[in-house]
Amino acid sequence: MKVAVCGCGVLGSQISWQVALSGFEVNVYEIDEKALGRCKDFHMRYSNLFKTKEPFEKLSYYVSLEGCLKDVDLVIESIPEDLNLKRGFLGKVSNIVSENVIITTNSSTFKPSDLKESIDNPSRFLALHFANPIWEANIAEIMGHSETDMEIFNKVVEFAKNIGMEPIKIYKEQAAYVLNSMLIPWLESAQRLYFNGVADFEDIDKAWIISTKSKIGPFGVIDLVGLRTIYNIVSNRAKESKNKEMFERAKKIKEEFLDKGRLGIETGKGFYKYPNPSYEKYVK
Ligand code: NAD
Repeated sequence: MKVAVCGCGVLGSQISWQVALSGFEVNVYEIDEKALGRCKDFHMRYSNLFKTKEPFEKLSYYVSLEGCLKDVDLVIESIPEDLNLKRGFLGKVSNIVSENVIITTNSSTFKPSDLKESIDNPSRFLALHFANPIWEANIAEIMGHSETDMEIFNKVVEFAKNIGMEPIKIYKEQAAYVLNSMLIPWLESAQRLYFNGVADFEDIDKAWIISTKSKIGPFGVIDLVGLRTIYNIVSNRAKESKNKEMFERAKKIKEEFLDKGRLGIETGKGFYKYPNPSYEKYVK
């Protein structure tokens, strides 16, 4: 099976590396040369982390979508969390590949049914959703929409196993899947406490880590997810709900984090500084 990973940022770079590491041919697509350079930097980092260069033999890099999609059997879309961007992109993919190529999305907040209209033969379209980082949190949530072919669903479950993931099969379309149905309300509560000035983020994390015997609290998780994705989630919610507090929070995240390069673990600073974030001293 030959796989295309489209969008190779925080998650796409991990997915493409893991798929190549598992022995599959992987074509990577990025929007431009600069983004492709960032993706190669990610792969160099993983190569040092895993102490192997072998996956590079399986990886090919493209800024041409047609080139990337040639002869692939499975497409994994992992571009930014923006509904119109994803719809447009999936439409393009579906116009290029043949009818039986499986198309998946790694979207965290949109359901397959929000995106399926852009795709010809939507029965081959479903979500294959990874957690972050995919090596430690090695689950893959597999979720179709009402018309997804179960045979294809099962093929994707097998593929997830073949790349070292524990599949989480979701039988009814559920916004935010299983993990994020629990995680997002948790992160939202923590952000509300912090951005409304109720408590310092360090104390919010400390309360969680000590009392639930966890290794990480909500702001550590936000740094792990990346502030860009958090910003996209908050600004999408702001637009949907027209909630003033959400708009203000999105603005603060942009000004205090994104504009200052505080993107989370990937840039060495977010809420905390890395390596050795200060919350680690509360972990027992
Ligand atoms: P990211 O911003 O780090 O990466 C997105 C990549 O897509 C960038 O490298 C960008 O250059 C590229 N891109 C932008 N527009 C493009 C286009 N039109 N065509 C191709 N590439 C394009 O974002 P991310 O955190 O990797 O998230 C990507 C997807 O994965 C989102 O749908 C997100 O919801 C999902 N996801 C993220 C996480 C996480 O923890 N970050 C976890 C699970 C799922």
